[in-house]
Amino acid sequence: MTDRYAVIGNPIEQSKSPLIHTAFAEVTGQDLAYTKLLAPLGGFAAAVDAFRAAGGKGMNVTAPFKMDAFAYATELAPSAQMAGAVNALKFVGDTVVAENFDGVGLVRDVVNNLKCPLQGRRVLILGAGGATRGALLPLLSQGPAELVIVNRTVAKAQALQSLAQQHHTGAVPIRALGYDELAGQTFDVVFNATSASLTAELPPLPATVFAPACLAYELAYGKGLTPFLKLAQQAGAGHLADGVGMLAEQAAEAFAWWRGVRPDTAAVIQKLNVPLV
Ligand code: NDP
Repeated sequence: MTDRYAVIGNPIEQSKSPLIHTAFAEVTGQDLAYTKLLAPLGGFAAAVDAFRAAGGKGMNVTAPFKMDAFAYATELAPSAQMAGAVNALKFVGDTVVAENFDGVGLVRDVVNNLKCPLQGRRVLILGAGGATRGALLPLLSQGPAELVIVNRTVAKAQALQSLAQQHHTGAVPIRALGYDELAGQTFDVVFNATSASLTAELPPLPATVFAPACLAYELAYGKGLTPFLKLAQQAGAGHLADGVGMLAEQAAEAFAWWRGVRPDTAAVIQKLNVPLV
């Protein structure tokens, strides 16, 4: 019997998850159907209840329901606990297991696909929202020389700094700064985990932060050369990337978790890639 999966959100039309998971199912020979599920605001639990009652095996969760999924779950993986949000659910009888694969997807893309080891690197992450929160422990697990969180609202960066310090068992120095404190500092890897690129805005970032061989990584995807990537390019950053690989890798993590088989992501990344021009 064909197993059913879905991505739930509002809006949901834009989601690439059905395309990605259907491609993964084809190459791995898994018998599954993956659809989009539009839930009304305030209607997350009822929509998931109905999907489970109809035999659904698992779900991806996108905006604005990642916190609803956190509340709905009966078992939270450490990644979901740290992120304070959930992007994948697995239904096993009455149990609802919850994960957050965004951070691990980001690290896999950088380290495996882009061949940029993070160990010993000075890493800067812009933004202190959900994406940063989920990325902190996976980034720290790579053993960078330091991890700096910068945010427009500095208090939010400081809150994430203390959260990461509580959970991180290694010795990586973690700092929280405002943009005006970045003068004179350079980094080997700079992640833009703000939502500024979604509205073609640029965080108030000095162009001097990019070390010459720096990787500038935009978590948003499908936007081409965003203002952040343009700044990095003009500043001479060695490598530019957007979040399409992160999207594919978090999906592959969920797929492997549900199906016990890990799909290769290269074809999906190539298919979804929008040139950075
Ligand atoms: P949130 O809304 O949780 O956080 C947004 C962050 O951006 C906040 O820290 C906010 O600062 C900051 N911000 C917004 N506008 C500006 C601006 N003009 N200048 C400076 N800072 C700004 O968003 P998420 O963390 O969920 O998402 C962040 C990005 O990551 C988005 O682009 C999203 O598309 C991308 N993403 C990509 C994924 C992928 O698979 N590739 C997965 C998940 C997210 P403040 O706190 O001061 O308001």
